[in-house]
Amino acid sequence: MKRREFLQGSVLSAAAAAVGCSGNGSSSQGAPAIQTQKKVKWRLASSFPRSLDTIFGAAEVLAERVEAMSGGQFTLRVHPAGELVPGLQVMDAVQQGTAHCGQSASYYYTGKNPALTFDTCVPFGMTARQQEAWLHEGGGSELVNGLFADFGIRSFPGGNTGVQMGGWFKKEVPSLGDLKGLKMRIPGMGGDVMAALGVSVQQIAGGEIFPALERGVIDATEWVGPYDDEKLGFHKAARFYYYPGWWEPGPSLSFYVNQKAWDDLPSHLQAIFKTACQEAASAMQARYDVKNPPAFERLLSGGVQLRPFAGDIMKGAQEAARQILSEQAAKDPSYRKIYEAWEASRKAQAKWFSTAELAYAQFAFS
Ligand code: CA
Repeated sequence: MKRREFLQGSVLSAAAAAVGCSGNGSSSQGAPAIQTQKKVKWRLASSFPRSLDTIFGAAEVLAERVEAMSGGQFTLRVHPAGELVPGLQVMDAVQQGTAHCGQSASYYYTGKNPALTFDTCVPFGMTARQQEAWLHEGGGSELVNGLFADFGIRSFPGGNTGVQMGGWFKKEVPSLGDLKGLKMRIPGMGGDVMAALGVSVQQIAGGEIFPALERGVIDATEWVGPYDDEKLGFHKAARFYYYPGWWEPGPSLSFYVNQKAWDDLPSHLQAIFKTACQEAASAMQARYDVKNPPAFERLLSGGVQLRPFAGDIMKGAQEAARQILSEQAAKDPSYRKIYEAWEASRKAQAKWFSTAELAYAQFAFS
């Protein structure tokens, strides 16, 4: 403590000395040193409930790291879904400045711009590694931020769940025809595909799904995978656990920042925020990969019935997804631009991953 106080005191004295020595009456010299000491306190609105230490936990990692790296100069107060704003209104809150920043999934907001799905995932699209590669190093983040500029928001990749499970069904769905009339909670473009297959689709935020499933407002739901799903209690309301979640093969979560708040942030705190986003993102993926296997075992030993989606459901859904993508691309040039870039990356990655990655996974995982 004493050493830290001493160091802070030294920095302030040095800054004061710099101002004092400027000598010519101008305060410009030395002023930035004082400016960098100004405390910055932000509110972060999350789309997720506090109970999920995987996905919501990443926002807490972000806050911890930002505070630690800035020596307490920059702090984030993290609000779970419903505390500052409802879970599905995080993008609006960041746009309006109700929150300086947010944690969400961009596919919740495809009603504002359908191309926002590319910031998260696309049914039958890329896996976590592939999607993150595209966002971080393949030009994806720049393209996606071209969309967010319309909303006065900057979006940073904020973690990934890996391939998701297909979710919880009260009754079995052995073939494509069994999906007709089913009421299911499924967000984003996955929901559009399910709707094309005859499902009655609902968007419900994470913390509100269980009561809807339990009361029979919905017949089925998806969320993420064993660890989160067990915490949310879906196995207590539906027995059949389907896989894979073809609509979310590698969904990337996002941290949003209000553009004005970002522009007002000193450059060293911008660097700290970006670095902390990456650390939070790594923590999210690692937590899922460590916590899912034992949760999966617990669910199976508790009597959950595991079911693979039938071939006709997989094929029918893939066809519907391709149709939605090409229809959107045909009517919206800005959608087409981002779709074509994403699709080129997906194809190249698929070809490359089909060699060493696939051969190894098939041998080692079986
Ligand atoms: Ca999901």
